[in-house]
Amino acid sequence: MRIMFDLMGTVFGAIDMSLRPGIKETIKALRENGCQVGFWTSGPVEQYRAVLNGAGITGEVYRKGVHLPFVPDICVDDSPEEWMPGELFAVKPHISDVMPGVSILVAELMGFNEKRNFFRD
Ligand SMILES: [Mg+2]
Repeated sequence: MRIMFDLMGTVFGAIDMSLRPGIKETIKALRENGCQVGFWTSGPVEQYRAVLNGAGITGEVYRKGVHLPFVPDICVDDSPEEWMPGELFAVKPHISDVMPGVSILVAELMGFNEKRNFFRD
């Protein structure tokens, strides 16, 4: 599963660039479960990559709307747009430390609840 995260308002606070509560743990858990996680932005890619990596989150940052080396299965975004590939997972924006967004839960993101098969699980 390939998952693309938007940066401003999704991973970072739109005002203060703080990290969304729990986002590091969510990304870590996704990777531990075999997901490929990347990031994209319509802002300055190099600058956001430095901020992301500086915050302790590894990963590549791409520019929105430009050809990607892979097609995401899920795009997580505080303002999803129709052209985005895969399933769109809309989140309420993370504004700042004092106006935090909610944590993004792995189970919710991966749709475990809907896909659960009670005959098999
Ligand atoms: Mg955003």
